[in-house]
Amino acid sequence: MSGHSFQYGRAANVHDALIQASKPGAAYLAGGTDLLQLWKAGAIAPAGVVDISHLPLDHVEFVEGKLSLGALARLSDVATHPDVTRYHPLIARAILDTASGQIRNMATVGGNLLQRTRCAYFRNQGLACNKRIPGSGCGALAGENRQAALFGASASCVATHASDLAVALTALDAEVEVFGAQGQRRFPLRDLYCLPAATPERDTSLTVGELIIGVHIPNASRFAARSTYVKVRDRASFEFAVVSVAAVLYIENSRIVEARLTAGGVAPLPWRLIRSEASLVGRAPDAQAIAAAGDMAVEHARPLAHNGFKVTLLRNAVIRALQTIGDQP
Ligand code: SF4
Repeated sequence: MSGHSFQYGRAANVHDALIQASKPGAAYLAGGTDLLQLWKAGAIAPAGVVDISHLPLDHVEFVEGKLSLGALARLSDVATHPDVTRYHPLIARAILDTASGQIRNMATVGGNLLQRTRCAYFRNQGLACNKRIPGSGCGALAGENRQAALFGASASCVATHASDLAVALTALDAEVEVFGAQGQRRFPLRDLYCLPAATPERDTSLTVGELIIGVHIPNASRFAARSTYVKVRDRASFEFAVVSVAAVLYIENSRIVEARLTAGGVAPLPWRLIRSEASLVGRAPDAQAIAAAGDMAVEHARPLAHNGFKVTLLRNAVIRALQTIGDQP
């Protein structure tokens, strides 16, 4: 305890964590890299924190081609694990594109997936933001929206999700395992995130106190030879106005059998480019097929006043990613 109005609790185990985090205004503390920034900026004001950083959920396990990551595994430990670099190079690449080495040493898998948007209005107490204060308006919609989404946004929120790891994991069809009042459940990572629609204050489908305990990645060894993570930055833009693409191909007899493409920085959640993926199947990874996939990736983009440059960045990132892995031996 520190003071009468703020509670610090150290969870003894996941059951205890859930009980403590079910109190109104409680927040989990793991690596703390996002939580403390948000707190300092006044974007959140938890009534207490439940420290889970010491719970034994930091495994990185590779069994029969399947990778399992504990929610508290540090990003740096995941990215340098020999089985990850060998069989899941996409995950290692995406993590190494995340923040600084110092932050990667602290930040956890679960915390990374649950990081809040980088939208400047959300992280500045003085500005209107429906995500921070429901009903206060979306300052970004008609304001500074260089970082805003091209897909999946609504009039109530146009923010993007910033996790690189989530983009790679979505391309690999990862599942999250959570523990909550209803017990343990496991579901596709893409179902963790909510589109803003009319409730932008809600980022995820987690219930009160529900805790991510792990992430499971199915056998993706067929993709190990051809996968890449491309992150592009517009030089004139802010640090986080970036677009990324996780791409994997499985090629047999010079034809693409399976393609997975997921974009980051362009939607409120990692955005699977389903039509581009489907367009590649059965074709050789040649210039025409790659250009067509790039065009399709941006077909339904809905840019705002200042983020039109992201349409070009996304198209180019898809093309660059596919060229890179199409050429791999
Ligand atoms: Fe807030 Fe979302 Fe609008 Fe940003 S885009 S100001 S996070 S409501």
